[in-house]
Amino acid sequence: MFNLILFGPPGSGKGTQSEKLIAKYGLKHLSTGDLLRSEIAQQTALGLEAKKIMDKGHLVPDEVVIGMISSALDANPDAKGFLFDGFPRTAAQAEALDKLLDLKKTSINVMLALEVSEEELVKRLLKRGETSSRSDDTNEAVIRQRIAVYHSKTAAVADYYKGFDKAVYLKGEGTVEEIFGRICGEVDSRL
Ligand code: ADP
Repeated sequence: MFNLILFGPPGSGKGTQSEKLIAKYGLKHLSTGDLLRSEIAQQTALGLEAKKIMDKGHLVPDEVVIGMISSALDANPDAKGFLFDGFPRTAAQAEALDKLLDLKKTSINVMLALEVSEEELVKRLLKRGETSSRSDDTNEAVIRQRIAVYHSKTAAVADYYKGFDKAVYLKGEGTVEEIFGRICGEVDSRL
């Protein structure tokens, strides 16, 4: 199996690059943001609770997203590998993910972190907010709050993988194809 974490702040292009990566490498895409938005669309109890948190730019509780990932791993026993997008976002989530993968006799191969300046992130997210149905992308204060949460809680996840020598940083600015080329170079060197 090949398991990859695509890491980076909100607006760094994880979703865009994930689509291209799953098409090229046949990995199963697991995005906690997408899983949560699907709960919201179905108006489940979990979705209704999560929406209130997401609209403030805060993180949904660890146990909720860890439970979703655990179910998704169980639901895909034949996957060639997983691409984690938007997860793990806290050190506790990273530790839980290692345990879940351990049970499946597999592990994370690499964490690829996309680096983008804050002004570019805000610009991209406000632009996405003009056309997407995502309410968390229309308000600049909520966008800046999500970036602040990334620095205060999520950046620690990179240190966790650095400790295992699995963290790689890539420039997340340039054209979509240029960035995809950088990511594929790192993946190919590890396959
Ligand atoms: P973005 O990275 O652009 O903020 P996501 O779709 O990854 O978008 O996440 C949207 C929101 O969903 C986050 O702001 C957060 O509230 C919630 N969320 C997604 N993934 C997680 C996670 N792993 N842990 C906690 N909350 C999460």
